[in-house]
Amino acid sequence: MGNRNKIDFWSDFWIEKTSLKISFPRIYSIAVKKCGKIKDFGCWIQGRWAWRIDLRRRLFEWEIPLWNEFRLVLNRAVSVHQCPDSVIWSGTQDGQYIPKAFCSIVASQGTLADPVWGLVWYKFVPPKVSAFVWRAVHLRLPVMLELVKRGIICNDRCLCLFCNLEPEAVNHVLCLYAVVWRAWQRWCSVWNVNLVFPMNVKQLLEVWFAQKIRQRVRGIWRIGIFGFIWIIWIHRNKSRFKGYSYSADQIFNHALL
Ligand SMILES: [Zn+2]
Repeated sequence: MGNRNKIDFWSDFWIEKTSLKISFPRIYSIAVKKCGKIKDFGCWIQGRWAWRIDLRRRLFEWEIPLWNEFRLVLNRAVSVHQCPDSVIWSGTQDGQYIPKAFCSIVASQGTLADPVWGLVWYKFVPPKVSAFVWRAVHLRLPVMLELVKRGIICNDRCLCLFCNLEPEAVNHVLCLYAVVWRAWQRWCSVWNVNLVFPMNVKQLLEVWFAQKIRQRVRGIWRIGIFGFIWIIWIHRNKSRFKGYSYSADQIFNHALL
């Protein structure tokens, strides 16, 4: 990303093993701008790189997961802070993205100041899962509310599909939604833990790690929260995109596996 002026956004192999044009032909076909360097597809806003990919039309329902994937791929290439040369995957030999490279890149940027950082990158958790939880803590998941905020979908579609009461926010999906919270509580009751209802994923993580669990099983307890968050997200996606229903029991049973 240091070469924002030189790298061709659609045609060069700068994020994935192939070009964005090849990886995301559908998005490419509806993009307004078909050529240009990386710098032409975004700008810095208050120290953050913001992508700006204009589309010729609104997305069809079935294109949204594709679009989300595209955005995630792009966002992986962006650092938290303005630091133009630190965003490439130079840590990996072929320049290919791997979560571990992502960890060390972000780690080198002073984000360590936030104590939640140490929790998210818990040593026994696969980097892929940690990266996901990190995005959840920072509300960077493609849930409806976040997509509305970014103007990707329109306002009237941001309600949570399951309860139809609240906007589909990251914290709602992963912990506050009643069904999901029941699954959390069930998990905790197995451990004889009484969790206070958290405000958000970050707080849940903090409370989780603060629990006094016997040392022998503490590792399992701590890994559990990552597995649980991951599973809830999988259920949410299956439910949203494939029409599966889900319940607290299903989440719980899946987590036991
Ligand atoms: Zn809901």
